[in-house]
Amino acid sequence: MTTVINPATEAVVETVPETSAAEADAAIVRAERAFPAWREVAPADRARLLRRFADAVDADLAHLAELEVANSGHTIGNARWEAGNVRDVLHYYSAAPERLFGRQIPVPGGLNITFAEPLGVVAVIVPWNFPMPIAGWGFAPALAAGNTVVLKPAELTPLTALRLAELALAAGLPEGVFQVLPGRGSVVGQRFVDHPAVRKVVFTGSTEVGRMIMAGCAAQVKRVTLELGGKNANVIFADADLERAAATAPYGVFDNAGQDCCARSRILVQRTVLDRFLALLEPAVHGVRVGDPASEATEMGPLISASHRARVASYLDDTEIAFRGTAPDGPGFWFPPTVVLPRTPTDRVVTEEVFGPVVTVQPFDDEDDAVRLANDTPYGLSGSIWTNDVGRALRVSRGIEAGNLSVNSHSSVRYWTPFGGMKQSGLGRELGPDALNAFTETKNVFIDTSRGSH
Ligand code: NAD
Repeated sequence: MTTVINPATEAVVETVPETSAAEADAAIVRAERAFPAWREVAPADRARLLRRFADAVDADLAHLAELEVANSGHTIGNARWEAGNVRDVLHYYSAAPERLFGRQIPVPGGLNITFAEPLGVVAVIVPWNFPMPIAGWGFAPALAAGNTVVLKPAELTPLTALRLAELALAAGLPEGVFQVLPGRGSVVGQRFVDHPAVRKVVFTGSTEVGRMIMAGCAAQVKRVTLELGGKNANVIFADADLERAAATAPYGVFDNAGQDCCARSRILVQRTVLDRFLALLEPAVHGVRVGDPASEATEMGPLISASHRARVASYLDDTEIAFRGTAPDGPGFWFPPTVVLPRTPTDRVVTEEVFGPVVTVQPFDDEDDAVRLANDTPYGLSGSIWTNDVGRALRVSRGIEAGNLSVNSHSSVRYWTPFGGMKQSGLGRELGPDALNAFTETKNVFIDTSRGSH
């Protein structure tokens, strides 16, 4: 049994049974048996079922959001957005079954056509930081392409995924097509990697576990998509709108209490405006409203667990805190927004993903220096560039090795556009028009049309 704890109050929310290895295997076999019929569902009918699933999520949006507030400590505003994102991603990919085109390629002697074939059973492994959206980015395109799905939520945050599985059944998805298996990574996740009927693993989580998954999948040449960690730069040039850059920087990193792979956790500021920027940043950090995540006005909730809070705090052991915001006392895994001026560029707080509300501020001299510092990490997920010079915005965007960049903004995720990491931030892309490619195999068929052929 997993005991689900409300991170804002430390109260027990619920206990959830853990799926055993044998139960995981049985679910994989059910998914394998459900696959032939699911892939044969007429495209318009599969589309209709996904739209119904999206509508069921929409009808349950307030409830899903409340579950996430209680289970994960997400602010109510964020939690509503997250449930809405699952709905939107389902609607977006519900257009896919009727548009899963192959190609006819001119060849001599016959007709050549390609098919986008589903893979079979797809396994999705989800981390605790965004339980709903990350689940949806995997299961929605996978189901649309005709695969069946087994999904493991993170140990700490199973509640919304379990609810989504109920909604899928209620919307009419056949039994076995989408199953949610709460449990341990080392048990259920490992069966996804090892069981030969699972043809693909979509993993979002730490780079450390992602490496193990990739190595494990290599044994069966199993397909993988990996969405891993980040240590993203927020690069602020002297010519930028400094007021806006400073007012938004806290939200670029402290949203979801910094438990975001896209958190802009390294602020890089052109040296000539460093003092002015810090003077503007301080009141902005003090202005972040940290507290009860169920309250409409709250902008940042607690961290996910006591052990995670201890891990985040350890990054402040040998470093200089410039200033901090506030956080409630009493029960709950609270941590105030914290701004650090690192002593050296090799401090742990600069090089490692903290995954909490901690941001470093470092100066740079010129454009080349900014790009060098931004790229001085094994990660390459996201980042922001603040400048009013369009040429510079484009040069620096091309120079930074990261999969998702934003100029004069901190937005990384739009379901219409591809999302994923370079370097050790991942492999493959989710969302956008091409995500179906990650859930299908191209099959090529040649038909001999020469005279005399039968
Ligand atoms: P984690 O790697 O500890 O766990 C992620 C998931 O993998 C969980 O469901 C866990 O149970 C499972 N797992 C653990 N060990 C496993 C094993 N041996 N085999 C199979 N599955 C296993 O990560 P976390 O602490 O839950 O999440 C935080 C991490 O996720 C951060 O590093 C963050 O950057 C990353 N993340 C990345 C993205 C992205 O899109 N790039 C998005 C969100 C989070």
